[in-house]
Amino acid sequence: MEQGFDAIVVGAGPAGCACAYKLAKAGLQALVIDRGKFAGAKNMWGGAFYGAELLELLPDFLEEAPFERYVTRQKISFLTVEDCLSIDFASPKFSQPAPHGFVILRSKFDRWFADKAQEAGAIVAPGLGADDLLWDGHRVTGIKAGNDELPASAVIACDGANSVMAQKAGLQTELSPEDMKQGVKEVIELPREVIEQRFNLSGREGMAWEFAGSCTQGLPGGGFIYTNQDSISIGIVAQLNALVKRKIQANDLLEGFKSHPEVARLIEGGKLVEYSGHLIPVSGINMMPELYRDGFLVAGDAAALVLGTGLILEGANFAVASGIAAAETVIKAKEKGDFSRESLSTYQKLLEESYVLKDLKTFKKAPHFLENPHIYNLYPELACDLARRIFIGDGQPRKTTWNTLRGSLKGKASLLQILPDLWWGKGAI
Ligand SMILES: Cc1cc2nc3c(=O)[nH]c(=O)nc-3n(C[C@H](O)[C@H](O)[C@H](O)COP(=O)(O)OP(=O)(O)OC[C@H]3O[C@@H](n4cnc5c(N)ncnc54)[C@H](O)[C@@H]3O)c2cc1C
Repeated sequence: MEQGFDAIVVGAGPAGCACAYKLAKAGLQALVIDRGKFAGAKNMWGGAFYGAELLELLPDFLEEAPFERYVTRQKISFLTVEDCLSIDFASPKFSQPAPHGFVILRSKFDRWFADKAQEAGAIVAPGLGADDLLWDGHRVTGIKAGNDELPASAVIACDGANSVMAQKAGLQTELSPEDMKQGVKEVIELPREVIEQRFNLSGREGMAWEFAGSCTQGLPGGGFIYTNQDSISIGIVAQLNALVKRKIQANDLLEGFKSHPEVARLIEGGKLVEYSGHLIPVSGINMMPELYRDGFLVAGDAAALVLGTGLILEGANFAVASGIAAAETVIKAKEKGDFSRESLSTYQKLLEESYVLKDLKTFKKAPHFLENPHIYNLYPELACDLARRIFIGDGQPRKTTWNTLRGSLKGKASLLQILPDLWWGKGAI
């Protein structure tokens, strides 16, 4: 191709596949490359995809997509070394008016998504890593991949956390460990009927389960379990700088989590079939790079578009939404024949109008708030202590709930400690 591609998308994760699919559907010549042997080969997450983007983008999604289960139960648990206090939310609203969440295994799903982009007309090239950018003055004009120089009117960096492309474009500096969480995950195979019985599910129903407390030994982070059809995804995320400072391996946290009495019974008899680790950019809008320059855009994790509020961790929907917005911007730029920085600024406007930047702005203070160690030791301990006092009778006269709460607090925390947390939490999450 002498003139080069209309667009080269670097990375075939959710952001890159959504972007390439949308570009190809509009008739643009799009190339999407991925350094993995196939799209999704090295990708991991918890994980569930939340939101309607995929249903809107891919009308055959529900019939065709290789998702594992619908999310129909969402559970949150507070752990101490022995105890577990849970909130288990089940509601038909999870699937009305359309399903809200899909439990997905990335190696299957990303491959399928890349195939959809290819069917739409994009060229998908796995096994090809972008090493550098091509330049004409201050304008990006393509990429270097091995010995190849591939020209394009626009390059869209969808290369995930710690994006080399955004760094090469001068938009992102090297990331600091304070801004990253380390995730580790195992996939444990179990018979389908065992999963359904242990998690109170049937058919394609599925559970997303988050844990806070002893599973991270007091470090900012948490545990998670997602039910696949014939396996369970179980993992831990923990703040990278805290892991380094405390000299703790994320894998040791995962082993501890798996041996918690309430967790061990869920995976008992299962067979480990996959182990993976990945970084998550968690400082949201506080670490977001500039999103575009002449001939260049950044989407998904590469732009740190991840929302973590302590109750939810979502990045894949932000990746798809930003991949679509990047494609829409490039489609307009092609119509105008103008790929300048000014022309590509439409991208920022589209993200500002959507939930992507609105949510990241709303939860701007969440990353800092979530560094508070009370969330990971004091509050789970208090919650479990209160439950112990309320639910486990010791033959002594009972106290009112208020006096029981005061008993729980005694020696552990004062109102002077808790009130500031409530105050900061009110504006942060
Ligand atoms: C442990 C964990 C749990 C998570 N749980 C959830 C969850 O439950 N729900 C949710 O919504 N989000 C979750 N996330 C976040 C979510 O996984 C990401 O936000 C999402 O994958 C971002 O998509 P992306 O396409 O931007 O990047 P990625 O999915 O990281 O894809 C980037 C792609 O770029 C490729 N690539 C990288 N560099 C190059 C290069 N130089 N050349 C070519 N290709 C390259 C990679 O091979 C990869 O395929 C979780 C993340 C982790 C780590």
